[in-house]
Amino acid sequence: MTGITTIRPSEVGKLNERQVLRLIRGRGPLSRADVARESGLSAPTVSKAVASLLAAGLLEETDAAEPTRGRPAPRLRLNTGSAQVLGVAVDAGHCEVVSAGLDGELHPDPITVPTPATYPALLDALEAACRTLAARPGVTTLGLGLSLPGLVDYRRGAGVLSPNLHLTDGRTPARDLAERLGLECTFLQESHALCLAERDWGMARGVDDFAMIDVGTGVGLGVMSGGRLLTGHSGLAGELGHITAVADGGRACGCGNTGCLETVCSDTALAWRVSRRVGRSIDVDELFAEAAAGRLDVAAELAESARYLAVAVAAVMNLFNPAAVYIHTRQFDLDPGLFDRVAGLVARRALPPSLADCRVVRARGSKRQGAVAGVLRHLTDAAPLAAV
Ligand SMILES: [Zn+2]
Repeated sequence: MTGITTIRPSEVGKLNERQVLRLIRGRGPLSRADVARESGLSAPTVSKAVASLLAAGLLEETDAAEPTRGRPAPRLRLNTGSAQVLGVAVDAGHCEVVSAGLDGELHPDPITVPTPATYPALLDALEAACRTLAARPGVTTLGLGLSLPGLVDYRRGAGVLSPNLHLTDGRTPARDLAERLGLECTFLQESHALCLAERDWGMARGVDDFAMIDVGTGVGLGVMSGGRLLTGHSGLAGELGHITAVADGGRACGCGNTGCLETVCSDTALAWRVSRRVGRSIDVDELFAEAAAGRLDVAAELAESARYLAVAVAAVMNLFNPAAVYIHTRQFDLDPGLFDRVAGLVARRALPPSLADCRVVRARGSKRQGAVAGVLRHLTDAAPLAAV
């Protein structure tokens, strides 16, 4: 079963078109003759497929490489000029809405909206931001990818339980937004979005077995095994943040339990610890702003976070035997030496044979890139999630 829910069937259904798109996505820009030669398809078949893909806005023509004789043959590439997709990353504090060409390159005008308190207000805010980006003159918007934190049900395209954002529990934000905007929409769990971003544009290109640990409002995990996202029986796999880290006397977690890993290792936990020490309530945004500006010393609290993060990384290493564990967290921004200290602690915790064959890497990708990667994979069908 694939890990991503697509709300509407793609219009790109023909096998030849898919083959041409895959080729251009991986090797483009290419001329029609290049495509015919490399695909083994006949020239008329390539011409027909290309005409259809140009009409659908998925491809565009660009200048010839080096014309040698006669009229130069234009080359084909994924459309970055007159078509775009949107990416929406929903999170507890803020939501990000971006647009990108079909090559995945993000446009430089993202919109950040504070996450509203109710589900209808969330849809209103996301719709408004999407409409702003979709209003780019001369550009057609072909689809939208949306990432959501917490447990998701890919079969229904619904949020199930988001311990830090309960307003999406039982809701279908991708489908609801798709209906409002009249767009195809792809729905991803946010750790899966990070995996796709890293795999398509980050440090995991060509890596089939890796894990992604996301430390933000909560703590998430995505695992790619043999090139497939591990989803579990009903899509709920990877809830690293809600394993018990403090067996007795732990703090209450948004999931209803106590002592979960994310109560000791997330940004929220970091803000809670600092608040307790300084004797006033400091939220996550204030903490990062003040610490980055050098007005707040959070070294002791970061060290505590690092200890638990190392436990999490070592556990993932031992459980899944990945070739790499990527760590996605802003906490590394607060201390240039923190990543190396976490890696050092991991080396003391993980089983030596698992450790010897695994790299620990700071992730480069973002959830907004992952949302874009999800919808692009659907639209171009270049690499369905079942076999990325
Ligand atoms: Zn929990």
